[in-house]
Amino acid sequence: SRSEITYFGAGPALLPTDVLETAAQALLDYNGTGLGIAEHSHRSELATNIINAAKADLATYLDIPSADYEVLFMQAGGTGEFAASVYNLVGAWVARQHTALLQANPGADEATILASLRQKVKSELKLDYIVTGSWSLKAYQEAIRLVGPEYVNLVVDARTANDGKFGKIPDQSTWKLSKDAALVYYCDNETVDGVEFPEFPAILGPGPDGTGPIVVADMSSNILSRRIPVTNYSLLFFGAQKNLGSTGVTVAVLKKAFLPPTTVQPSAALLRKLGLPIPPIILQYETIAKNNSLYNTLSILDVFIAGQVLKKLLKTFPDKVDGQQALSAKKAELIYGALEAHPEAYKIVPDKSVRSRMNICFRVIKNGAVDESEKAFLKEATSIGLTGLKGHRSVGGIRASNYNSIPLEGAEKLAKFIGEFAKA
Ligand code: PMP
Repeated sequence: SRSEITYFGAGPALLPTDVLETAAQALLDYNGTGLGIAEHSHRSELATNIINAAKADLATYLDIPSADYEVLFMQAGGTGEFAASVYNLVGAWVARQHTALLQANPGADEATILASLRQKVKSELKLDYIVTGSWSLKAYQEAIRLVGPEYVNLVVDARTANDGKFGKIPDQSTWKLSKDAALVYYCDNETVDGVEFPEFPAILGPGPDGTGPIVVADMSSNILSRRIPVTNYSLLFFGAQKNLGSTGVTVAVLKKAFLPPTTVQPSAALLRKLGLPIPPIILQYETIAKNNSLYNTLSILDVFIAGQVLKKLLKTFPDKVDGQQALSAKKAELIYGALEAHPEAYKIVPDKSVRSRMNICFRVIKNGAVDESEKAFLKEATSIGLTGLKGHRSVGGIRASNYNSIPLEGAEKLAKFIGEFAKA
């Protein structure tokens, strides 16, 4: 039964039981309206209230300055955001260049401006990608697919410094950043490889003049688990299905400077003339923002569940995300501690300096090599209710996803089992 297992799956992940009970009731009959939450119109007042409450609670929990940032509920998952970030920030880059050209050449005709803009795109447009694991690699590949390799700069490939495998983050002094890139992209926590940035990469921070590069971060697998310097980001995004809620809703937190009136996305006609991709309307932040995330039919059930998780977090932790951060660290220390106590039986995959608190990846070894004991580990763990521990199919091994809804007792139980299995 549900009460007997702790599920360490990487996403979809465990959700708090009381949140699911509330959601189950809401699915049948929302607030005594006689209609379930998945049946009510997304245009209803109650849907808007649910969206606005979730936005406000997210901003409170993470200290997002609402005057400067917009919270958007999107629908195409983290994968959709790989594309959305490219479309929207390339659009913003074009808008900036276009405005600058118009200002610098007040009398110039349209054809002259267009020729200059084309030249600028050709010689200056760059999208920077920091590749530290499977997910940032996918985002990088998507950028190449959408705009073409000539515009995409690989800032660093973490595999080159680690025998062709992910598991380390090369020193920032070796990163090759472009000048004035349309975006600099990284993944804060690599779910498959168990690599997490220990903190915001200092090289991407604002300089003495207060301005810095346009930083985009994928926080799909570690959002809500530690404090983030929100104002260093132009865009951060995350699917809900790991630390926030159920699959089906993706959150983008976007600096308002990338929205009208400051930035107006270029028209489809202009992008076509420049040979740049035209965003599907559903991935255009400007459109989603203008409609308070309700341009088309959004799953209000999923926003409701995310909202309930946020309410629970705010209630549990008076010091908001700092409280969860301390608990997440404690759980991760317990599990890594148990693994480190038995180097003869376990090999932790990533380098200690970049170990993820969220996805703990390790191998079970005997006489220095992986053997059948890894299968036995999984089987025995499952038999005592520790489930979802199998590593990603691309890398194998064991992965314990230690997301927010894993209770301390769950982490303790896993740590104890790790110790006992090693001794046996
Ligand atoms: N980024 C990260 C870090 C992820 O872990 C995942 C999914 N596991 C994705 C992006 C892709 O998300 P989705 O499946 O929602 O497209």
